[in-house]
Amino acid sequence: PSSAPPSLPSATSRRPRFYVARAMSSHIVGYPRIGPKRELKFALESFWDGKTSVDDLQNVAANLRKSIWRHMADAGIKYIPSNTFSYYDQMLDTTAMLGAVPSRYGWEGGEIGFDVYFSMARGNASVPAMEMTKWFDTNYHYIVPELGPDVEFSYASHKAVVEFKEAKALGIDTFPVLIGPMTYLLLSKPAKGVEKSFCLLSLIDKILPVYKEVLADLKSAGARWIQFDEPILVMDLDTSQLQAFCDAYSHMESSLAGLNVLIATYFADVPAEAYKALMSLKCVTGFGFDLVRGLETLDLIKENFPPGKLLFAGVVDGRNIWANDLSASLKTLQTLEDIVGKEKVVVSTSCSLLHTAVDLVNEIKLDKELKSWLAFAAQKVVEVNALAKSFSGVKDEALFSSNSMRQASRRSSPRVTNVSVQQDVAAVKESDHRRSTEVSVRLQAQQKKLNLPALPTTTIGSFPQTTDLRRIRREFKAKKISEIDYVQTIKEEYEKVVKLQEELGIDVLVHGEAERNDMVEYFGEQLSGFAFTSNGWVQSYGSRCVKPPIIYGDVTRPKAMTVFWSSMAQKMTQRPMKGMLTGPVTILNWSFVRNDQPRHETCFQIALAIKDEVEDLEKAGVTVIQIDEAALREGLPLRNSEQKFYLDWAVHAFRITNCGVQDTTQIHTHMCYSNFNDIIHSIIDMDADVITIENSRSDEKLLSVFHEGVKYSAGIGPGVYDIHSPRIPSAEEIAERIKKMLAVLDSKVLWVNPDCGLKTRNYTEVKAALSNMVAAAKLIRSQL
Ligand code: GLN
Ligand code: ZN
Repeated sequence: PSSAPPSLPSATSRRPRFYVARAMSSHIVGYPRIGPKRELKFALESFWDGKTSVDDLQNVAANLRKSIWRHMADAGIKYIPSNTFSYYDQMLDTTAMLGAVPSRYGWEGGEIGFDVYFSMARGNASVPAMEMTKWFDTNYHYIVPELGPDVEFSYASHKAVVEFKEAKALGIDTFPVLIGPMTYLLLSKPAKGVEKSFCLLSLIDKILPVYKEVLADLKSAGARWIQFDEPILVMDLDTSQLQAFCDAYSHMESSLAGLNVLIATYFADVPAEAYKALMSLKCVTGFGFDLVRGLETLDLIKENFPPGKLLFAGVVDGRNIWANDLSASLKTLQTLEDIVGKEKVVVSTSCSLLHTAVDLVNEIKLDKELKSWLAFAAQKVVEVNALAKSFSGVKDEALFSSNSMRQASRRSSPRVTNVSVQQDVAAVKESDHRRSTEVSVRLQAQQKKLNLPALPTTTIGSFPQTTDLRRIRREFKAKKISEIDYVQTIKEEYEKVVKLQEELGIDVLVHGEAERNDMVEYFGEQLSGFAFTSNGWVQSYGSRCVKPPIIYGDVTRPKAMTVFWSSMAQKMTQRPMKGMLTGPVTILNWSFVRNDQPRHETCFQIALAIKDEVEDLEKAGVTVIQIDEAALREGLPLRNSEQKFYLDWAVHAFRITNCGVQDTTQIHTHMCYSNFNDIIHSIIDMDADVITIENSRSDEKLLSVFHEGVKYSAGIGPGVYDIHSPRIPSAEEIAERIKKMLAVLDSKVLWVNPDCGLKTRNYTEVKAALSNMVAAAKLIRSQL
């Protein structure tokens, strides 16, 4: 570097080396474990299939951990996390650590091994899996602990200390990470048979002794730091919960002596009350905040930050793929340093990098310009370090100036802006959009046309995605097979799926989505403003990963996207064939969204594109159109104060897509994952004709809202069996479920369908399960 950066005193930059020891330090909250090319996924799946051994799996895992630690160490990161690796899920790891294995898995004590661990995660031939649900507002799913007054906790998985030692043996001193006791308990649910009102926090005294054992273990292994992830603090906790939080950490005080303690929060602002509670903790050395999503936290820090404590400043976005605006981050860090003092600021990521893609290096197909706007986990590590170093006078001028050039090129690129779309959005945004007739009237008109039996059966969209299908799509994309051959192959697949559904006796058919790789990518590829990575995978649950598209510019639909395929499928059957679209909110929530305009602006752009598609399908004679909003619920902001605004624009965007269709066109929507009770009024306000909802893994929690008398007059199909598990539900079991639903829902509105799409299952499972489902529906129909 030749000249001193303007923001720093020139003396600093003239003697860089001597300042290294007093550098602002750097820290990473957590790192993706799936591997830059999904190595862990493939190792897990071949292990589960019995094709490889425990050793094989463990070797792949150890190599991944090693390369992650080495990368961070080489980059110069001071505080490198360990125990952020997981074979399935970090909450499940904590359940294992605490020995909180539900009795149905037959665990008999001792260190928890893969058989028990994976049975909890995935179920086995005789027992279903534990429930899985969204991790805060991300698309990551954790395994929900099942707790009750009788659970005996014990230190049953030594993973945290084993990983710490493993890194140490590699010469890397790490920062062990645990999910904090408050977050663990508050994300649990009462086990089966336990009162719903059971206070999960009452178990705090029972789990802390195990935490203390873990801490003692880590200390004797030589750990000097411990990070507790307590993202639950960003939720609106009440006074007694906050008191319990403070008590829990005071309780651990003696065990924490000799350790530096970081409490990491992320995903949103920490509410003022929680911030106060946090700051009152004596045993804590540092506090971590998400300064990307939580801009108000800065004000709280300004008002009060205890002297002598460290501030872990999460300025590098862990949930997006955009290159950090380094000079903007420097400003933030400078402000923080002015408040809390020199050497008290630690540069960090806003949250674990688990939620972003792994390594940009593997993106060889992205064009250079776009690539220059991006940073994945591996690059974010470098950004964190560069920011930290620049504060100690070793500013990497070349990196900073290339960064600001890249920021400028993104801001001014004509690829980003499309004035006419912006005008269209401005025109719809302010007015309301609704179908003109009321839903019960529409349903009558549709029934006249469709003539469906009571309790109509349907599926959610996809049928098994075989390796053959994946290969065909790949070959077509790579132009190895002709379009004619490709269309022919997909057509044959449709015919197979249609025939199967007719044989099974399903009432409303689907085409099976053979032409689609992924429900968002498929549409993104056909819309403008989207870009795709080759390896930008993000873990969704277990070995499942998603590859979110990148929305970098204004969105338009150059031409119809599904009409060709849907009308082909409709012609194969007399029964109604659902047109299948992904809704705007889901496309938004499952993409990496631009950070240079509000999310809702982007969402309305997508809604207008989908609206055109819906209307084209209708014109082509498709009378039932499903617009999946699988991810509407998960985009709900964590803070109560922000939820209404989100729900209003999200539901509005959905209605825009179908407000223009005739009464006789039946609009379905589908949503994944439980916890709908709190947004039921928004679901009703979506004004779909039929909604299918995942339900079976949430113990009928979904239905409780109907017990409470919410009036619901549209069609509804709460899933009757879990498609995430290979287990085949019996007809009796499904019939029982339907009966339970009929206790709260009118038989005129109830639909019978699985929880979600069938793409992850095989045909043997699907045939057996659907045949039992249809049998159950027929049985109950005959009793109506
Ligand atoms: N139509 C999609 C499918 O069946 C819906 C998937 C989802 O809800 N995640 O695959
Ligand atoms: Zn679903």
